[in-house]
Amino acid sequence: MTTISPLIAGNWKMNGLSQSLDELTELAQLLTTGEAPRAVVVVCPPATILAAVAAQGASSGIMAGGQDCHVEASGAHTGDISAYMLADAGAQFVIVGHSERRASHAENDDIVRAKAEAAIGAGLKPIICVGETESERDGGSAESIVNQQLSRSIPDAAEHHEIVVAYEPVWAIGTGRTPTLEEIAQMHANIRARLVERFGEERGNTLRILYGGSMKPLNAREILNVDNVNGGLIGGASLLAKDFYTIISSV
Ligand code: PEP
Repeated sequence: MTTISPLIAGNWKMNGLSQSLDELTELAQLLTTGEAPRAVVVVCPPATILAAVAAQGASSGIMAGGQDCHVEASGAHTGDISAYMLADAGAQFVIVGHSERRASHAENDDIVRAKAEAAIGAGLKPIICVGETESERDGGSAESIVNQQLSRSIPDAAEHHEIVVAYEPVWAIGTGRTPTLEEIAQMHANIRARLVERFGEERGNTLRILYGGSMKPLNAREILNVDNVNGGLIGGASLLAKDFYTIISSV
């Protein structure tokens, strides 16, 4: 059985000013004074404070990630940020295909795949998000939707060690609702099977599959113990150092 080092990533979304670096200071203190974390820790702040997070986090092993990137390396794209810029600011990861971007910026799988490609080209590890809506789950098509997103959003040339997959049921994000542990286990087993099909037995079994959607200090331990859950992508609960630390310590 392959062991995968878990990864806990915090997605701050459009939250955080320079004073939020105090939370990072507190998190760093908790991580360095408490028991050594058994997870890779990543914080994905807004781009305005990414460089500061990367610089400040380095001494305590906290890595920085972007929340999105443009498909091009540079050019006439007012307001956009390229993967190279994120890397230049100190990022090592970038979230692509988050359901909020799929919904409010009309990002389809082709765009997500191009973003993941751009990220890999810039030396970043894309965290590729997939997940069904509530009506898709109710209609019984959750697995087929996720499988389609997976096959279309992962770049053809991607190597298994260059990417992370995050399963984020859209209806669980920011709602306080989560799938049952059985539903999480079933979907993660399905994703694992697709990754093994794509990358082969050995490689497909080393790829991280994160769970995201209303993971909180109270439910983190049980979710993180589910088979094929190799970490979490955390939104709301990553904004407070104590909560995020509790989740990290649940690994
Ligand atoms: C997310 O936005 O990726 C997320 C998981 O949010 P929350 O934890 O707040 O549901």
